[in-house]
Amino acid sequence: MNAVSSRGAQTILAPGSTIGILGGGQLGRMLAVAASRLGLNVHIYSPSAECPAAPVAQTVSVGAFDDVEAIIKFAKTCDAVTYEFENVPAVSAKGASSVTPLRPGARALDVSQDRLIEKSFLRAQVGVEVAGFEDVNSVYDLKRAVKRLGLPCVLKTRRLGYDGKGQVIIRSEAEIDAAWTTLAPAPCILEAFIPFEREVSIVAARGLDGQIKAYPLTENVHRNHILHTSTAPATQDNGSAAKIAAKILDHLDYVGVMGVEFFQMTDGRLIVNEIAPRVHNSGHWTQDAGCTDQFEQHIRAVAGWPLGDTTPRHRVVMTNLIGDDVEAWATLAKDPATHLHLYGKSEIREGRKMGHINRISPST
Ligand code: AMP
Repeated sequence: MNAVSSRGAQTILAPGSTIGILGGGQLGRMLAVAASRLGLNVHIYSPSAECPAAPVAQTVSVGAFDDVEAIIKFAKTCDAVTYEFENVPAVSAKGASSVTPLRPGARALDVSQDRLIEKSFLRAQVGVEVAGFEDVNSVYDLKRAVKRLGLPCVLKTRRLGYDGKGQVIIRSEAEIDAAWTTLAPAPCILEAFIPFEREVSIVAARGLDGQIKAYPLTENVHRNHILHTSTAPATQDNGSAAKIAAKILDHLDYVGVMGVEFFQMTDGRLIVNEIAPRVHNSGHWTQDAGCTDQFEQHIRAVAGWPLGDTTPRHRVVMTNLIGDDVEAWATLAKDPATHLHLYGKSEIREGRKMGHINRISPST
């Protein structure tokens, strides 16, 4: 153990300390690379020994995310623990936090794992605008909720939805029964359909001392419900998204990087879609923007270090390499303005994130 100052929740990690990461996907991999640049070690906990983070981490423990005992054993070997995806069961996160500082804390998981809790928290506690929503547990609830919110609307499972999985758009009353059958019996939430002009996000960090630093607004384009491109800095950033993100971070007494996704309306109004208590795909552009990237920023926060600079020197367009897009790697690697990031996944599957590229323009 290498913590330099140990006052419970305020522990600051010295170089040589070990950060535990729950999850070993590409986000864990890029966090591990950033940690190694700062002289910190990483211990990955993943259900698979062949996960993308394994080749770049000092230690890997293989176990299930709901194996609380194994997670406590893992956490005992770490000076602080973080997570790279939001579906770590709350009991496991709490188990880890009973023996080691968990950053961000378990509350951020409780809130972001369940769309109903998340939207209620954002609206009632933080006081930010979200899409109209209703709790739905039966086809009867769904019919009533459709009457309240109007058509079109979006039915989503409360838990475990990502990249458009676990959601159905309802455009007419005739589609209600089929929508329910698609997702039932999972507890659901019905959301009003937001006729947004564009989708934007903010990636922001809060340090152990409460300092907050946000990256500029990023504009996101999705294809087939999966993020396709992120462009930063986005045009027309009046700073309100960063203020909303700061309010959310403070309410959660958060430590680390968070992604906040918004729908922006034609009049500029921002509606929060969801929060991700981790480094975020729409923040990958920061790796080649000439400032502290989001992975290093998260590691700095988790270690209790000062946050780094978030002012980009370049304008960057990030494009995800999804499925067989990655087969163009050799051509992409030839272009001097293109920075190639590959995740080391051996099997190409449709819809699978295999890597991304950052294309830079000379200045912001
Ligand atoms: P989510 O999994 O909630 O982030 O949704 C994935 C994508 O579906 C979003 O990025 C939007 O493009 C679209 N979407 C989700 N919810 C809504 C909504 N209430 N109104 C309009 N589009 C939505």
